[in-house]
Amino acid sequence: MNSFIPYGKQQITQEDVDAIAAVLKSDYITQGPVTKDFEEIFAKFIGSKYAIAVANGTAALHLSALALDVDDKQTVITTPLTFVASANCIQYCGGQIHFADIDPETLCIDLNSIEDLLKKNRKSNYTGVIPVDFAGYPVNTESLRSIADQYGLWILEDACHAPGGYFLDSNSSIQHCGNGTYADLSIFSFHPVKHITTGEGGMITSNDIDKIEKIRKLRIHGITREPHLLQENHGGWYYEMQELGYNYRITDFQCALGISQLKRADENLARRKKIAEKYTEAFAGFDFIKTPAIRNNVSHAWHLYVIQVPDRKGLYDYLRSQQIFTQVHYIPVHLQPYYKNLGWKKGDFPNAEKYYEQCLSIPMYAGLTDDEQSYTIRKILEFYNVA
Ligand SMILES: *Cc1c(COP(=O)(O)O)cnc(C)c1O
Repeated sequence: MNSFIPYGKQQITQEDVDAIAAVLKSDYITQGPVTKDFEEIFAKFIGSKYAIAVANGTAALHLSALALDVDDKQTVITTPLTFVASANCIQYCGGQIHFADIDPETLCIDLNSIEDLLKKNRKSNYTGVIPVDFAGYPVNTESLRSIADQYGLWILEDACHAPGGYFLDSNSSIQHCGNGTYADLSIFSFHPVKHITTGEGGMITSNDIDKIEKIRKLRIHGITREPHLLQENHGGWYYEMQELGYNYRITDFQCALGISQLKRADENLARRKKIAEKYTEAFAGFDFIKTPAIRNNVSHAWHLYVIQVPDRKGLYDYLRSQQIFTQVHYIPVHLQPYYKNLGWKKGDFPNAEKYYEQCLSIPMYAGLTDDEQSYTIRKILEFYNVA
């Protein structure tokens, strides 16, 4: 057993290490061919036409907001139940973020609350929505698309939790999270707690070549060398900075790790599903432990396994004393001091706030052993005196 059991953890094999080392010894350790390879392989895995690798998931969100032309005249809707970066990307561009409450069952943004918001605040200039596939539960982007089309909104899907997850659309076709069928752009993160890691890293996926080209340029300072895009051409060294961009590149050795990690993605997703099934079964007899929603038309990606329980702090502290390090996902974004200063307050989103009082993410990662999981289950039941 490890010295402690975390809620999430990367898995690095000797193959991964060898893949990184090979690139470190090659001619290009950044801006080389491996970044492109990773983009192509990832797009194939997700089922999107295009993918662009960047420095991290937050950079992916920022570049997406820029490509969607967010500015200080716009308002964008997201869920209060997400990592702060999903909201911050709009603030970076000077826009305003508004929140719509969650569905207490799926824990994703509630499509009805989006519609209520759009109907109530007709004067606000809503231009887009950022749904999050929370914990790995795929947002039904087909249904969201029909609302978005009605109000002229773009969709930026934050799919950080859901590589490999999918839902069945109204034609019973499999729609993988981030595949670009219904969302304009989607983003992923490769932070070590996510399904696939590159240390730090992120990806933008889409079927929209214009937005992808724009992001490609903004990733490197707004610079292009493509002959057909240049206004002048002075020779082989020539490039133009055509817009104000950023340095949001990822290295080639990180991408080598990403490619190597992707080889185990299906196998690891299957392992996550098994872990989820065992938890759900173990807690099935105890009404006071609420386990995640499972639906027939959805394949959950199980980034997190969140239980909702009474005396959550007591359980958190007890598990910690037993070397099980759980986590809370998330403190509702509108209750963070920065957002409270913008006028949001307790009581604004009752479903997200009630969930926050009770939620706990218990260990969920491909490398979690059967023994570690059984120990975790036993300790949880022990805390409630039902073991
Ligand atoms: C991890 C995460 C991000 C940010 O990704 P980074 O790579 O850490 O910048 C954004 N949104 C969600 C939902 C995430 O889980």
